[in-house]
Amino acid sequence: MDVNEWKTERRTTRQISVGDVPVGGMAPVTVQSMTTTKTADVEGTLQQIYALAASGCDIVRCTCNELEAAEGLAQIVPRSPIPVIADIHHQYKMALAAMEAGVHGLRLNPGNIRKPEHIKAVASEARDRNLPIRIGVNAGSLDPKLYEKYGGATPEAMVESAQQEIAYFHDVDFDLIKISVKASSVPLMVEAYRQLADVTDYPLHLGVTEAGPPPAGLVKATAGIATLLMEGIGDTIRYSLTADPVEEAKAGRQLLEALGLRERKNVDLIACPSCGRAEVDVIEVANKAMEAFGERKLPLQVAVMGCVVNGPGEAREADLGIAAGNKRGHLFVKGRNIAVVPEDEMVDALVEWAEFINEHGIEAAIDKADTEKAAREAAKDRSALLEEQGDDANHSTEKIVEIRKTASN
Ligand code: SF4
Repeated sequence: MDVNEWKTERRTTRQISVGDVPVGGMAPVTVQSMTTTKTADVEGTLQQIYALAASGCDIVRCTCNELEAAEGLAQIVPRSPIPVIADIHHQYKMALAAMEAGVHGLRLNPGNIRKPEHIKAVASEARDRNLPIRIGVNAGSLDPKLYEKYGGATPEAMVESAQQEIAYFHDVDFDLIKISVKASSVPLMVEAYRQLADVTDYPLHLGVTEAGPPPAGLVKATAGIATLLMEGIGDTIRYSLTADPVEEAKAGRQLLEALGLRERKNVDLIACPSCGRAEVDVIEVANKAMEAFGERKLPLQVAVMGCVVNGPGEAREADLGIAAGNKRGHLFVKGRNIAVVPEDEMVDALVEWAEFINEHGIEAAIDKADTEKAAREAAKDRSALLEEQGDDANHSTEKIVEIRKTASN
């Protein structure tokens, strides 16, 4: 099965570089996040940046809202493991200070830095330093004139705001541009990005702004970002969650992996939803497995299945999996049974085999296993369960009879 077959063609965009990270062109889609510490707190901010980088963040943004923040950036940038962008609102002088501090790029909000001479002063300096700028349009802080002209923060108003800023940049021969048109409404941001993608080939930074705390925030951000990515739109993404920014980076990374836009770095844990056949508490085992895999860099798909009757078959595409039956855990690789372990050793065995497969590959795991014995044991437990539960472990037939009775009364 080749997932590349169904991949949407990505929109062709120009490429810029944020530090050593390419954005746009055919570069992999990147994950961004933003620190929540005071930028003047150098050690605290760096700690957060390191945690973000370890969670899959490619580019980080720090606010530069005061002189102390710019001074902090001067110390943060040289020690940061990933490129640093300064987030600028209202004060164009902070943009100049951040560039002096050595940042790898800027984000300007055209809604609150509006004087053309200020915008051009920043763009000229960025041009001379070869630094990219993101035009960060935000529905909530749109230029009041455009708000009035369009009668609200419409997709058209947001796109025009971005185009006005591009025109100012072009006036001073600056084109290291990426653009975002974020909104907290998913349909609004999706439409704004679609319209923007039609009129420019600059790379786009996707996000649903103020998405809120998880899980609702995750759902909203994913709905907006994934919709656009599946249409081939988007070169870099940020989840704006009311949560530890590490959650943003993880979510971004996971989304790109799930969409096949980035190579898998960590375990992709899949689990059956559980049903009347389940021989274990699937939620508990899946959570334990998730915890045991933790930050281990194992780019494998691992399945936790509630029963050996259907588990290995249902998850036959997984690299490795475990299915429960008769107080035992049945391990399988690509649907083939490879070992049987006591139920309470299931998770440890899963991690051990995952490490083995990561190092030696699927074939080596199958060669090492006594697959015939494992298959015999699985067949034994499967038939014992079928005998005990029958074909209809969820009692659907009984329920249907009851439903029919109720309906005919
Ligand atoms: S049949 Fe087995 S594997 Fe499928 S959902 Fe039920 S418990 Fe899980």
